[in-house]
Amino acid sequence: MGTQYYVYIGVIYVFVFLFGACVGSFLNVCIYRLPKEESLIKRNSHCMTCGEPIKRRDLIPIISWCILRGKCRSCGARISPRYTVVELLNALCWLFVAWRMDVLLNPAKFLLTALLFSALIVVFFMDWDTQLISNYVVIFIAVIAVVQIILFHGEYDVTIKSHIIGAFAVSLPLLIIELASKGRAMGRGDVYLMAAAGLFLGLQNILVALFIGLITGSIAGLIIKYRTEKSVFAFGPWLSLGIAAAAVYGNELAELYMKFTGLDEILAG
Ligand SMILES: [Zn+2]
Repeated sequence: MGTQYYVYIGVIYVFVFLFGACVGSFLNVCIYRLPKEESLIKRNSHCMTCGEPIKRRDLIPIISWCILRGKCRSCGARISPRYTVVELLNALCWLFVAWRMDVLLNPAKFLLTALLFSALIVVFFMDWDTQLISNYVVIFIAVIAVVQIILFHGEYDVTIKSHIIGAFAVSLPLLIIELASKGRAMGRGDVYLMAAAGLFLGLQNILVALFIGLITGSIAGLIIKYRTEKSVFAFGPWLSLGIAAAAVYGNELAELYMKFTGLDEILAG
């Protein structure tokens, strides 16, 4: 590997980061407008305080917010750092997935996983804010899952059968819990999310995703219960976290669990 290779991969990583930031900017639009069923394409970003439309030159992801020091150009009101956090988070996720999936060797696998991460960021923030998981986002995840199955059936150690069983393995039990608790323990959005994610991940990794979602969700639930008066609790953010972790480290996490519980020795006889 010569210097040229490192320059080449460096340039690709810079592009992935910049493109990820721009996609992050669109994710903000989704997080804000999907719950209100507003158009995603109409360009009407405006200041939340004075209503002044935001100028085109002030819409550059991450950079504009830093130049303006988080304040509106016309009225000086504070602009939430959330927008910049989402842009930066998506850019870093895309960069991480590019490294993890080896973007040069597996460009299609990189793109599908990066898009999954973006969809999960929307689920995380939207469910946190509104306790709703948009059906559009779930359908989007299902579509990239189908594209993945068509492109890679049999590769990456996951069979078509595993993808199909994965779609039901977690979502069906969750549906029963949802129906039994009349939606108090679990929302229908969580059920659909785990069905689409299961189709993407396959059987083993959707179980990993649920496991991580339950652990992080329980910890977060306890903290939220003791530290705030908030009585509503969204499970979607933690399921998203689990799905993201399972998408990039599913095999390693499953192996770790088997070793930790001694299941690997039991199964080996
Ligand atoms: Zn303003």
